[in-house]
Amino acid sequence: MGIFDTMSHYDFGELHLERDAATGLRAVIAIHDTRLGPALGGCRFIQYDSDDDAVVDALRLARSMTYKAALSGVPHGGGKAVIMRPAGEFDRVALFRAFGAFVDALGGHYITAEDSGTGLEDMEVVRTVTEHVTGVKAEHGGSGDPSPWTARGVRRGIQALAAHALGRSDLEGLRVVVQGVGHVGYHLCKELHALGCQLVVADVDPLKAERAQRELGAEVVELEHVFATECDVFAPCALGSALDDRTIPRLRCAIVAGAANNQLAAPHNGDDLYQRGIVYAPDYALNAGGLINVACEVTGYDRERVTTQVDAIHDTILQIAERAKAGESPTHRVADTMAQEKLRQASR
Ligand code: NAD
Repeated sequence: MGIFDTMSHYDFGELHLERDAATGLRAVIAIHDTRLGPALGGCRFIQYDSDDDAVVDALRLARSMTYKAALSGVPHGGGKAVIMRPAGEFDRVALFRAFGAFVDALGGHYITAEDSGTGLEDMEVVRTVTEHVTGVKAEHGGSGDPSPWTARGVRRGIQALAAHALGRSDLEGLRVVVQGVGHVGYHLCKELHALGCQLVVADVDPLKAERAQRELGAEVVELEHVFATECDVFAPCALGSALDDRTIPRLRCAIVAGAANNQLAAPHNGDDLYQRGIVYAPDYALNAGGLINVACEVTGYDRERVTTQVDAIHDTILQIAERAKAGESPTHRVADTMAQEKLRQASR
């Protein structure tokens, strides 16, 4: 597919590319929509097999940032940056300075943040070149690790769906399988443990699974058993595309609600979940806690405001589930419609 065909496939109007010979920077900034405000989204720094893969990754991720911001009431559009990790030796500081200049040249149309492969130190380097950056140190107005906020929002969404789908007013004894107990998955386990949930975990890194077992009494299962383990809630908190034609038929849960981005390998997988009577919490609606936290840096950090907004994920998820039930429609389609409604209202 040509570049403009790829952009129209992902419903895009704006894509920026930068190559800097001196540092080896090859970066993409995809801006999906700015009707609600300047685009905000993280910067990925990973190896890609091809330029096309990097562009498509940025486009897919930026689009879900638009929807995430719209549904969570964050006054920003959707954007995402991708830096293709050089195969050989490179100067990381010089590379991120060049990236900062790329961001700066867009004049605040896109604001960057951490994502897979980038961290606070990288954002501090970016900050030396542009003001359009979040995820920096607290003394520079930063808000710290977003993962606990993401986990809190996921827990609020699980509470909403436990009430909606299982008639539960508390989570005592609820059996939750958490796939991936990294930054968000671990904090989610802590939140759920405090509410009396029975935890089952799996992680490719055995040390992470063992930590959840040791500290929170979680049962550890083999990676391949994670989908077929009987539970109330299956929480994908590892990588994207966990829910596909192969894994969905194995699920033995009532609810799917986790932090991972792009959980559905393809939109029809959301329809499959619906047909099987599994209530799915649309990923971008559920995992907005980190975005809410980082967006607050732009206007001046206010912890109370962040807490209120993250807790409101409960009502957003409930509203999606109720509209889906009333309209006999899958939740991922209802969430898209709700986000599009908000975007249309903003453009009036
Ligand atoms: P992380 O890298 O800290 O954690 C991911 C964990 O999953 C790791 O412990 C890894 O070992 C494990 N893992 C990888 N593949 C696995 C597999 N096949 N089976 C089981 N475990 C596996 O990442 P994170 O920050 O916790 O983010 C988790 C997911 O949530 C990602 O998809 C991320 O994009 C999404 N997300 C994160 C945030 C945030 O605030 N960090 C916000 C929104 C969305």
